[in-house]
Amino acid sequence: MPGSFKTEAVVLRSIRFGEADRILHLYSQRLGRLGAIAKGSRRPRSRFGGRLEPFFRLDLVLHQGRGQLATVTSAATVEGYPRLRSYGAGIGAAARACDAVLRLLDAAEPNPAGYQLLCRYLSLLDEADPDRGAGLNTALSFRLKLALAAGFAPELACCARCGEAEHLTGFSGAAGGVVCASCERGSFELSEEAHRFMVESLASPLAAAPPAGERALRQVERAVSETLEHHAHVRLRAAA
Ligand SMILES: [Zn+2]
Repeated sequence: MPGSFKTEAVVLRSIRFGEADRILHLYSQRLGRLGAIAKGSRRPRSRFGGRLEPFFRLDLVLHQGRGQLATVTSAATVEGYPRLRSYGAGIGAAARACDAVLRLLDAAEPNPAGYQLLCRYLSLLDEADPDRGAGLNTALSFRLKLALAAGFAPELACCARCGEAEHLTGFSGAAGGVVCASCERGSFELSEEAHRFMVESLASPLAAAPPAGERALRQVERAVSETLEHHAHVRLRAAA
């Protein structure tokens, strides 16, 4: 898309470049993954101010020339999420979420559900009690929903190998879902609690992620990670 265009986007990564520039990895509402350069943005009196940092949600005007990177012409803040930046767990969770989006939604095509999900999670981290954060259950619910938005949701309704609906006792990343007792070769044990958490997470808003114990949540994390490794060829960082 040559020429100038407008889009809303979240800054996933911001890298210092040259003497005074920044290169941004953006996830945009209208165009999916974008790379852009913000010239002079590290000068003290840059018109961009401090808003080209990770997690900022911006209204951007970009110019696409012949190069791979678009050039940032203007940037206005939609949301800066200042409270999530004030506690370590918030920054960590937001960084892992942005990293997951960067790895999983890597196409230059729009994914409105994925974009909305990222903005929703950043808002929840911003509204959370800094002493408790948004919780591992919300972080994993985000991952499951992101996998769904990317087209890699695990099969949860019946055995991913044979279609059996009862005695679902394991999870296999290679099979891409829960497996029954007869098909459990190569799977790991998945508790009823972990299975229920995944089903309910996908059926609930992110703000209403169901509760679950630490052991079940670690099984969920492994299930999502192994599914994405096998089917999306993406390896995510630990969820917390
Ligand atoms: Zn089976």
